[in-house]
Amino acid sequence: MILDALTKNLRKTIIAGNWKMNKTPSEAKALLEEIAPLVKDADCEVVACVPYVDLATAIEATKGTNIKIGAENCHWEESGAYTGEISTGMLKELGVEYVVIGHSERRQYFGETDETVNKRTKAALKAGLKPIVCVGELLWERECNITNEVIARQIKLDLWDVSAEDMMNVTIAYEPVWAIGTGKTATAEQAEEVCAFIRLCLKGLYGLEVAESVTIQYGGSMNDKNAGELLMKTNVDGGLIGGASLVAEKFAAIVDAASRSYEE
Ligand code: PEP
Repeated sequence: MILDALTKNLRKTIIAGNWKMNKTPSEAKALLEEIAPLVKDADCEVVACVPYVDLATAIEATKGTNIKIGAENCHWEESGAYTGEISTGMLKELGVEYVVIGHSERRQYFGETDETVNKRTKAALKAGLKPIVCVGELLWERECNITNEVIARQIKLDLWDVSAEDMMNVTIAYEPVWAIGTGKTATAEQAEEVCAFIRLCLKGLYGLEVAESVTIQYGGSMNDKNAGELLMKTNVDGGLIGGASLVAEKFAAIVDAASRSYEE
């Protein structure tokens, strides 16, 4: 237990907002200006992952603050005939630091597969971006008692051929699909159980040192009320926040809970 607490304290806690398809550039600027003073003393990494068209404005608006900017996806090719897609080089040149990859909404609505998640993750790493790789089971998969099988498969395929060295720049987000945007949060125990299992999978693939270093977030209806309990769990190192990241006070309250989540 003491060792668990020590290793949790050594990992980077990351609270990342996933704005999805919300906020125009002017609205993004206003929201970030509202959030910035509220999170300025955060004792954790604060990230806002915003729509592509908001990126330049967001980077400008957060200059001189502790808020890092992320994108919500990227393509795996450097350039070419991929109408509507955005390359890692384009993101990098803007000053983007993080990128969400394999969000369940992309898997569900846009044909994202573990293979494309893997390609995007490797492209992001190659470009020097920090991928936040999302994994999570569907409700019926949980009901059929195959959560661990689903997660193990996603971890193995999504991180296929990613080196141990590159894993230092990868964040995993455990997002049970049944909890995203539904108001249904996994209990802190359920979140801890799967996040600990993800760490076990990472240990099998990369060894103990890497497994203990990787930040594993929970995502799925995390809000200002339930964040404290979730973030106190040993293997929950942060959160990927959808709805609540669009309300400055709620997002700031989650950041505050994360800043207090280090175990004593
Ligand atoms: C998400 O979009 O990653 C997410 C967790 O959404 P919400 O917090 O709204 O459930």
